Amino acid sequence: MVAAIPLRKRLRGKASQYSDLSFTTEVVQQLVVPTFVLDAERSVIVWNPACEQLTGMTAGEVIGTRNHWRAFYGSQRPCLADLIVENRLDEVDQYYPIHHQSLDLRQGVHTENWCVMPLRGNQLYLEIDAGPIFDADGKLVAVVETLRDMTLRQTAESRLRTIFESSPDPVWIIEDGRFVECNDAAVNALGYGSKGDFLNTHPSQLSPPVQPDGEDSFSKAERMMALARDKGLHRFEWVHTRADGSNFTAEVTLSLIDLAGRKAIYCAWRDISDRKRAEEALRLYAKVFENSGEAILITDSRNRIIAVNQALERDTGYIARDLLGKDPRVLSAQRTPRETYQTMWAALQESGYWQGELWDLRKDGMIYPKWAAISAIHDEKGRLTNYIASFTDISERKAAEARIDHLAHHDALTGLFNRYSLESRLAQALLAARRDEQQLAVMFIDLDRFKVINDTLGHHAGDHLLIEVSERLAGCVRESDIVARLGGDEFIVVLAALANEMDTVLVARKILTTLGAPYEIDGRALHSTPSIGIALYPANGDDADTLMKNADTAMYHAKEKGRNNFQFFCPDMTAAATERLELERDLRSALENQEFELHYQPQVRTQDGEIHGVEALIRWRHRERGLVPPLKFIPIAEETGVIEAIGAWVLREACRQMAAWRKEGFTLQHVAVNLSAHQLRSPELLSQVRDAIADFGLAPGALELEITESVAMEDPERAIGQLQALRESGVELAIDDFGTGYSSLAYLKMLPIHTLKLDRAFVRDIETDENDAAISAATLALARNLGLRVVAEGVETEAQRRFLAEHACDLLQGYLFGRPEPAAELTARWHKAAATPRRQ
Ligand code: C2E
Ligand code: MG
Ligand code: MG
Repeated sequence: MVAAIPLRKRLRGKASQYSDLSFTTEVVQQLVVPTFVLDAERSVIVWNPACEQLTGMTAGEVIGTRNHWRAFYGSQRPCLADLIVENRLDEVDQYYPIHHQSLDLRQGVHTENWCVMPLRGNQLYLEIDAGPIFDADGKLVAVVETLRDMTLRQTAESRLRTIFESSPDPVWIIEDGRFVECNDAAVNALGYGSKGDFLNTHPSQLSPPVQPDGEDSFSKAERMMALARDKGLHRFEWVHTRADGSNFTAEVTLSLIDLAGRKAIYCAWRDISDRKRAEEALRLYAKVFENSGEAILITDSRNRIIAVNQALERDTGYIARDLLGKDPRVLSAQRTPRETYQTMWAALQESGYWQGELWDLRKDGMIYPKWAAISAIHDEKGRLTNYIASFTDISERKAAEARIDHLAHHDALTGLFNRYSLESRLAQALLAARRDEQQLAVMFIDLDRFKVINDTLGHHAGDHLLIEVSERLAGCVRESDIVARLGGDEFIVVLAALANEMDTVLVARKILTTLGAPYEIDGRALHSTPSIGIALYPANGDDADTLMKNADTAMYHAKEKGRNNFQFFCPDMTAAATERLELERDLRSALENQEFELHYQPQVRTQDGEIHGVEALIRWRHRERGLVPPLKFIPIAEETGVIEAIGAWVLREACRQMAAWRKEGFTLQHVAVNLSAHQLRSPELLSQVRDAIADFGLAPGALELEITESVAMEDPERAIGQLQALRESGVELAIDDFGTGYSSLAYLKMLPIHTLKLDRAFVRDIETDENDAAISAATLALARNLGLRVVAEGVETEAQRRFLAEHACDLLQGYLFGRPEPAAELTARWHKAAATPRRQ
């Protein structure tokens, strides 16, 4: 075309001079551009050699014909020159997809098209120009058509276009500050239906009014394009608006290109919203990292510290510079067990995660525990890149845990181990004993009559006593032994790793004397003794439960044996313990079922053998066991509190019987009734006694109440007050089992009593044991001095009777004069005796 225009100009300019066309023909013949000329009748008048070469059709074949189309197409159709000759320019579009036509036909028509070139056997892409030649009158005389083979360029261009069109990244062409072309990716990215919707717009029209940096989109776009024009290439971030109004961030690259001589801007962009979000997240992570309350440490794949945050600096006292490049081991306190580290690395390797407790060292040398959570970080290829560890200082939590742990494992009052930790410790001790083939002793310790102290002096004093007892207990054993409180006044001592059983005896004795020594509680002297039951491993059981149970049984045995002693478990005890439990159960309903009865034993005057009074002794007629002796059930009744109801019944029943005998004419001076410790403490006692006396019309002195020496000694002040009140209500009082306790004479003088009952134990050995004889004699002498009456218990032989008579004992009681019997039998005997003249 470049070559055609000067030709056309020349032709047009010289038309008047060279109107016969011969010049034109001559010129065209010389042109290296393939050219042919049609006359006004569309006949070929020139077909130059270049045209012959391009089409494969010779001038001879085509000159003078209208067959020139055969050179280009397989079927008949007009060439561009034909359309001009016939003035059918409106059809050019139909035959030639690309054509440029100036408004003035005189300047010619330019088209481009693929031609099949049947004679050449291949397709060519031709650029075709056709220009009319007019004569001086302006009449069209010929049309010159030039052809240029643009196949090569076209193929390259179409390739480029394909690339442009199919690029996954949106691409634009900007000319004069407007989008003039774009690919499908650009249309999609912006969410439009077709490029027609926004071509010819300014970039700022597809953007929010203002960019994130605050610059308005129009001026920034202009500035960016100017920079691209200046530098040839410019890259920046840009926020675009989609058709639906949403925004996204693109990284835009503008490059200056030359489009057929025109400067244009090739604009490629990429949606970096995801990257932006990732960057935003990274920024956020960085903030989290820096501001986290948890200490965070990051290492590289070789476990060298590459980052630490402020919290870590705060917790460790180090600054980042101290730590970077080092192994995290520098923080370790060397206290964490080696196995912890082993499991940690194993877990990190296996699952990439570990958490647990580590002990670290602060810069200032303080050791502190921390909770660590460590993750191994891998890249996309699975290679280890980092370790991230976060730590929380758990000193406080540990301290709290330790406190809670202490509370959970220790008795709150005494600080000894509680039942829970006793169980686990005993189990451990048993394992060790089994392994080392050693013995072990479990001691069950119960304080005798602790309930009395608690009830009479209050819980405060009781608690103090327990604390004091626990301290003394702990002092009796080795550090490696276990001392625990089960609750109440029950303690357990476990002697571990025993060389022999004798050691147990030594410790038990030590406990007896230590706990038996007087206590000073709230400025007051107190007395307390323990009963100890002992079970041995392996002889009495090989598990904690059995040993505890058997030690408990042995302890009850110790109680039965009169308290303040220790007993080793023997298998018989189990039977005894079972029996005890059953008795305890049955005792609750015995009163209701009227299973109790009273037997009476006579007390006779030493001097003439006449019956002076009787002692009421309770019997329990058990439906399966038969008669249960009082020593078997009275202690149980006392411990369970049932004694109060039983005692009240005994009192009334004895008074009723006494009244009945009196009514029958038997001249009994008194009936003696035994009082338990419990009853003596009961505020009900006084009114019960008064009611019984009044209800059955008993004379003063007809009721004698017996309390044992130890009961009277338990809480002297209180006992004195109570006894005083009883005495004032017309009751006589006796101290039972005298000589077995530790009554001081001074104290005895203060008690408002009438009678001492010399214990059977002394009477029994009176003839054989000088000691006992001496004690008995002294007691009798003492009693006389104090103005007390003496009753000797358990008189079985004539010799005993004589001895007692010689020492002026007032009354005698024992099998020698009669066993305890039901009232009916006694009554019958007395009636019979009354009928015997000798007894009258
Ligand atoms: P205690 O008050 O010292 O009663 C005397 C005990 O000695 C009675 O035993 C009696 O049967 C027994 N005894 C009497 N003479 C002889 C003898 O010559 N030789 C022998 N070997 N024993 C003799 P018992 O009836 O088994 O009562 C035992 C204890 O039970 C009593 O000792 C008393 O402390 C208590 N007890 C009995 N009845 C009651 C009661 O109703 N209430 C309370 N609280 N305790 C009672
Ligand atoms: Mg008695
Ligand atoms: Mg007695």
